[in-house]
Amino acid sequence: MTNATGFSFREVHSLSGSLGRAGEITTPHGVIQTPAFIPVGTKATVKSVLPESIKDLQAQAVLANAYHLYLQPGSDVVDEAGGLGKFMNWPGPTFTDSGGFQVLSLGVGFKKVIAMNEDTFRSDEVIADKKERLAHVDNDGVTFKSHLDGSMHRFTPEVSMKVQHELGADIIFAFDECTTLHNTRKYQEKSLERTRLWAIRCLKEHDRLTKARNHRPYQALFGVLQGAQYEDLRRKAAVDLGGMNVDGIEFDGFGLGGALDKEKLGTIVGWLCEELPRHKPRHLLGIGEPDDLFVGVENGADTFDCVAPSRQARTSAVFTPFGRTNMTNAKYKRQFSPIDETCDCYTCQNYTAAYMNHLFKSKEMLASTLATIHNEHFIVKLVAQMREAIIRGDFLEMKKEFMGRFYGLRDLK
Ligand SMILES: [Zn+2]
Repeated sequence: MTNATGFSFREVHSLSGSLGRAGEITTPHGVIQTPAFIPVGTKATVKSVLPESIKDLQAQAVLANAYHLYLQPGSDVVDEAGGLGKFMNWPGPTFTDSGGFQVLSLGVGFKKVIAMNEDTFRSDEVIADKKERLAHVDNDGVTFKSHLDGSMHRFTPEVSMKVQHELGADIIFAFDECTTLHNTRKYQEKSLERTRLWAIRCLKEHDRLTKARNHRPYQALFGVLQGAQYEDLRRKAAVDLGGMNVDGIEFDGFGLGGALDKEKLGTIVGWLCEELPRHKPRHLLGIGEPDDLFVGVENGADTFDCVAPSRQARTSAVFTPFGRTNMTNAKYKRQFSPIDETCDCYTCQNYTAAYMNHLFKSKEMLASTLATIHNEHFIVKLVAQMREAIIRGDFLEMKKEFMGRFYGLRDLK
């Protein structure tokens, strides 16, 4: 049911025996059929690709980064332009992240998904004592140095809400502290409480700005759940933010955040989704590898974003049904057929692997454009196929077939 805000979510089909589901998110700028992969346009552009091409490759929404647009051109400029969608000529639904991950990962070298092993040391020094630390977090917010010109800036929950309201995306995220998996348990507890208090401040400021800016379409605010690899902390985060109500205002949905141990990704998403209210959408932040997407969908995540498909495309790594390949490989020099015969993207319909090989070898800009179209289409379509499989009732068979083919894992359960 769409309420007066123009934002709503409904589950259309559930995956039996698990938390996965197919659904539909309605925003003031259109509907997103979920599960869905949302391409990232960090600076209000999916690098090297026209918005029309993003639409043609069947992406339903795009996600931009509040941190980057705050620094350049400034969120006030995007506001004057009529909001993110108008500014970048993308008529469909838009997301912005809170800037939390970006400012806190400055100078730290955060990786979103990491493989933990026994040798991994645990220390808060990873973020507390860098030689040239670019961000400092305290209970009120984060002070950070611009990666562009070294100027000093400060994000608080209120600043993040102001920036995201000016950017005007349909779905925005609460400001959170993103820890690393290397932080101590004690630090994770302290940080989680800080993120909870920031969530309350975000809800209050979001409500104030929504009323003050009622000439603009409604923006849905998602609370972000942290808690690293700890089950009790993750469940607490979901219970706290899932039930949070500040003067009648609740989160419209939830962002499943933080650094994630690849081995435990599904388990962690499962803990969170078990606790969250079922009638609200869940976005898994920064995840885009095919195996992680399957695990995320199976455990209840509805939408995903990641820079990986476009970033990898620019380095000549492209997806095929049989895994990732590199277009500069000599075997493509005379392959006068598409990268993937079964792909219905613009690139595969019109260009050969031999031409792609030539473009990458000669460092032509078109190489990035064509490879990005193919990679984004591959991931967008893969998640759309997961949706169809949930509705048909053969998700697990589809997963097994894909994983066996793509990763060569024949014995996958
Ligand atoms: Zn293709």
